[in-house]
Amino acid sequence: MRLAAKVYAVGNEKGGVGKTTIAVNVAAAAARRGARVLLIDSDATFRATQVLGVDPRTVPGTLADVYLQRRTAAQTIVPTAEGVDVLASGPELGEVAGKLAGLNYREFRLRLVLGAYLDECPYDVVFIDTPPSKGLLLSNALQVVDEVVCVLDMTDDGSVQGVVNTLLHIREMAAVPNAHVPTLRVLRNRVDERARSYRQIMDADALDLPGVCEQLGIDLMQIEIPETREFTNAAAERRPLVAIPRPASNRRLTAAVAALDALADELCPAKVAAA
Ligand code: ADP
Ligand code: MG
Repeated sequence: MRLAAKVYAVGNEKGGVGKTTIAVNVAAAAARRGARVLLIDSDATFRATQVLGVDPRTVPGTLADVYLQRRTAAQTIVPTAEGVDVLASGPELGEVAGKLAGLNYREFRLRLVLGAYLDECPYDVVFIDTPPSKGLLLSNALQVVDEVVCVLDMTDDGSVQGVVNTLLHIREMAAVPNAHVPTLRVLRNRVDERARSYRQIMDADALDLPGVCEQLGIDLMQIEIPETREFTNAAAERRPLVAIPRPASNRRLTAAVAALDALADELCPAKVAAA
């Protein structure tokens, strides 16, 4: 009997904190380490789809088609050059939330169309890139994931509130009897110990992050993703950073790739043990 894939959402209701960057890069890192990986792009800006080198206009279908039951997931997923399979997003996904709003069980539509597939799918790990806002695309994603990796941008004070909002959302889900409740981990992104904004967020007077996380029962991950502009350069080339040949002399870049490899190992441990 095979174990079901581990399913993660990469989240934070705030935009620009690095969700897409981390989703694409950890997916590519896990694939490079031998895992069978699916990335589901659940953001209507389809940035993760693009960074994996996929054009939403040329795929046989997108997540919108799966939501609206025009196609199955198996008919819609496509391989990418990065070794990650993708269930692509496209502009139509932006209209899906409005269409779901008129349906029964509107927060459970993704579970309805994808849940059985995820239980049996040929992947070790599945990452869902989520949109930067509350709404039905996010609520639906939370109903199918085992865990939420919530990205905390260490250069952006506002991203702490995004983590708190995500926690409150999950607690609300947990208040419903027999509810599906994903666990929450917080991943620090854009860590640059020399930067003032980093120190402001980490300063014990401003926020004792480890202490707050412990109090709230949130797992604050030890792995941290460093700040490097190479992430943005790689995305402009429509490739994950981990896939681009790099000079060993660039220490920040090397540290970023090492952190992503460590993250892939932590989120997909069985595969790495077998590799
Ligand atoms: P989100 O998906 O949360 O909206 P993105 O992944 O699109 O955020 O990232 C927003 C911007 O921040 C992008 O330009 C991205 O390249 C940049 N970025 C993300 N993570 C890092 C990092 N660790 N170092 C430097 N820039 C980063
Ligand atoms: Mg994004």
